[in-house]
Amino acid sequence: MAEYDYDLFTIGAGSGGVRASRVAAAHGARVAVAEEYRVGGTCVIRGCVPKKMLVYGAHFAEDLVDAERFGWDIAGKTFDWKRLRDIVQDDVTRLNGIYTQTLDNHGVTIINERAEITGPHELTLASGKVVTAKYILIATGARPQLPDFPGSEHGITSNEAFHLDAIPERVMIAGGGYIANEFAGIFHEFGAKVCVVNRGDQLLRGYDEALRDRLLQISLMKGIDFRFNAKFEKIEKLESGKLRVHLTGHDPCEVDLVMYAIGRVPNVEGLGLDKAGVEQGAKGEILVDRFSKTNVDHIYAVGDVTDRVQLTPVAIREGQAFADTVFGGGDPVAVDHSCIPSAVFSHPPIASVGMTEREARDKLGSIKVYQSDFRSMKNVVAGRNERGLYKMVVDAANDRVVGIHMIGQDAPEILQGFAVAVRAGLTKADFDATVAIHPTMAEEMVLLK
Ligand code: NDP
Repeated sequence: MAEYDYDLFTIGAGSGGVRASRVAAAHGARVAVAEEYRVGGTCVIRGCVPKKMLVYGAHFAEDLVDAERFGWDIAGKTFDWKRLRDIVQDDVTRLNGIYTQTLDNHGVTIINERAEITGPHELTLASGKVVTAKYILIATGARPQLPDFPGSEHGITSNEAFHLDAIPERVMIAGGGYIANEFAGIFHEFGAKVCVVNRGDQLLRGYDEALRDRLLQISLMKGIDFRFNAKFEKIEKLESGKLRVHLTGHDPCEVDLVMYAIGRVPNVEGLGLDKAGVEQGAKGEILVDRFSKTNVDHIYAVGDVTDRVQLTPVAIREGQAFADTVFGGGDPVAVDHSCIPSAVFSHPPIASVGMTEREARDKLGSIKVYQSDFRSMKNVVAGRNERGLYKMVVDAANDRVVGIHMIGQDAPEILQGFAVAVRAGLTKADFDATVAIHPTMAEEMVLLK
């Protein structure tokens, strides 16, 4: 008889938990994963994936306008939100099925219940059943942070945005980060009047200033409104169903929807972390070492619940590294959290890897910055006054490219390849020696002077 029911019990079947469970099972471990909602987690069910589909849908608003300049007459174009919403949700269900199937194919037991750690190697399921496991992996992710002020309960988060009955006429979005800028673009393109309310005076903290300024400028030009240094005081729900929002330093305004996008908090409640003696940080996040191990030897954590880098591909790598380390039989594998490329699927999108100009100046002292500020061929023909901006930051001491930052059509698609070059430590001379693909936007990166 085995000492434990399972070799690994994973709590949470999101990106990190699914990868870890599947790979551990492939290494021969007996694995169970508990998921209280749907297999797939934030990314697949209510995050990256359905969001990207909405971004595609939203962009047609501009493409259909531009089409006329390319010779196409498209009469009577209308937008049916419910059609898109339901097709997106159908695809979410399809992907949920694929993730479930993957776990099944690897012999992972899926338990559709909450699980709580109730003893050193013991977990109690919501049904009361008790199971034991040699290792426990916490991969419960994070959820939107909710503000607390009078009437704050009248607002929604991105979780609910995917299921709206209609696109509201006027939308106010709290926050100036990833989700705020992505959904500002989505709602705006679908015809809503959007106002982004930020507590500070900067959007997308952490991204290069030139890109943030450019996104703000383009967003304003498109008609998205911004309020900076503004705090929510209260929201009143009117008889008409509209919301009257009171912000510090501004007149009250009426909107149809308020959405909060003010960061995400780790899902750590009800997991039995106290009893298990697992150390947590100031936001509740689970503290782990470079191998995703907590202070308790057999308990590990990966993904957003550890609040290292809240990105799906990072959670997946952490899950993979955990499974290889604990069950792979080889050397321990740590995830390198440096030089992670990222993107914001705003309209237009932003993509970035490595150091911003400011970071590089602070860290390296002597740097060179190359920039291309251009209007794409497509925007020229379309008569669209929207300029892309590509920026390269180079260490003057050794010519190494230490950062690339882009805003413009397809920037995330273009940057992924360049991220390999930056990670590999290539120099500006290497970029210069590469022949351009003409005519493209990407060629700007090898033609920087
Ligand atoms: P972000 O951390 O990107 O942005 C949070 C924003 O809310 C900031 O502007 C911040 O201001 C503001 N804020 C924070 N706390 C408060 C508060 N108490 N009251 C008012 N404003 C506040 O969070 P998001 O919610 O947009 O996204 C969460 C995470 O999910 C991201 O950090 C990212 O890791 C991930 N994500 C990634 C995506 C992608 O890869 N494309 C897409 C969507 C999400 P300040 O700058 O002053 O702190």
